[in-house]
Amino acid sequence: NLDFKFIKENVDLVATNCKNRFSSADPHLVAALYDEFVALKTQADSLRAERNENSNAMKGKLDADKRALLIARGQELKEQLAAVEERLAKVEGALQREGQRVPNMTHPDVPLGGEEAAAVLREVGAQRHFTFSAKDHVTLAEALDMVDFESAAEVSGQKFYYLRNAGALLELALVNYAFNKVVSRGFTPIMTPDLVKASVLEKCGFQPRGAGTQIYAVEGSPLCLTGTAEVPLGGVYMDRILTEDQLPIRMAAFGHCFRTEAGAAGMAGKGLYRVHQFSKVEMFVLSTPAQSEALHQELIDIEIEMFEELGLHFKVLDMPSGDLGAPAYRKFDVEAWMPGLKRYGEISSASNCTDYQSRRLNIRYRPAGSKDAAGADAAATASGGGKKAGKKASGSGGGGSKTEFVHTLNATACAVPRMIVAILENFQQEDGSVVVPPPLRPYLGGMEIIHPPA
Ligand code: AMP
Repeated sequence: NLDFKFIKENVDLVATNCKNRFSSADPHLVAALYDEFVALKTQADSLRAERNENSNAMKGKLDADKRALLIARGQELKEQLAAVEERLAKVEGALQREGQRVPNMTHPDVPLGGEEAAAVLREVGAQRHFTFSAKDHVTLAEALDMVDFESAAEVSGQKFYYLRNAGALLELALVNYAFNKVVSRGFTPIMTPDLVKASVLEKCGFQPRGAGTQIYAVEGSPLCLTGTAEVPLGGVYMDRILTEDQLPIRMAAFGHCFRTEAGAAGMAGKGLYRVHQFSKVEMFVLSTPAQSEALHQELIDIEIEMFEELGLHFKVLDMPSGDLGAPAYRKFDVEAWMPGLKRYGEISSASNCTDYQSRRLNIRYRPAGSKDAAGADAAATASGGGKKAGKKASGSGGGGSKTEFVHTLNATACAVPRMIVAILENFQQEDGSVVVPPPLRPYLGGMEIIHPPA
């Protein structure tokens, strides 16, 4: 979430930003709740101080009258404090609830408006011209025996699939190709848990429960199936204090994504385009505020390099204010041409979330030169030489010296089913076979063309 003090001090700016992002959050209410919260907190603190003074005064030798007076005052203070604390808890709950609805601020270059306002930053390649009638990926994949929607419908339901033969191998090839690419760019490869605590999802800006949620929650458990590896990666450094020289931290994970796709009925219903479960390689970065804009560019550059190497035709979009979701400050989507579907389809998304997620995840760093920076560094080294760098945060103050929230960024390296759609539809041949993009061939035992299995 945003800093509540920032909301209070910039309430009109924040309200305009909410309007631009089509958010119904109410920053004026958040500012009022924050004022009440601060006033109640001050009141509780002074009552507590007075209560301590009062009980200290009882420690000495006193005459009975004086002691009786102090006891009565102690009782009075106890009751007053309990009432203030009760009210404080209620106001804090409301402040958190309303505060979390306020979206991140927006990069000044982001185009204002809905989906149609997206700005094309770059276009790579061109739509392929077919000398025959191009088929869609469902027709191609079924004829090549790469998918089995029928069994999936019986076993799991609609919008599930089995990948078979070259389909199964293609998923592994794509994952390996993407992993090698990001590892060569200095990302730490990680396999993440697919089940995560609802509380961590919330801290990353997702709504684990309630109407319209994209998240599958596990009944009778605090766990949910994660919709993206961004969540387990975001959680790695939860409640940590890093040093500036540890940043940026680049991580890349393979994970399964589970999505209810509530509200998406009818959209590209058939095939692999929109499904309930898919594999994804995701990049996640922690940085200082000064680094995050350049890292956002680095992430989109890695995506562009991969999609260009694979031979796809695509557009890079600067997503408009109304289409950013709550956490992103700026988001670059890539949409690839899908000749069978006869439209461009999103294949990746790269977001700079600035300090919106890290504030809730409580991931901070100590700027170089600030007091205790050396101490934090020593603690990090002692805890395993960078395996999981950072000092466990102790309370909200971080040990007294100045700390700041890190910036977080996330980006798709490879969302497997959409890549399969794009590859099958773009590289199909008249006889229904499909040419394998050269960078994937080493991961497919040299296979150059996908033919139906013998
Ligand atoms: P997101 O984590 O929502 O930014 O999505 C990352 C990427 O995953 C998108 O750019 C799509 O390529 C892909 N994707 C998202 N939702 C689905 C879905 N339901 N089925 C298949 N691919 C998806």
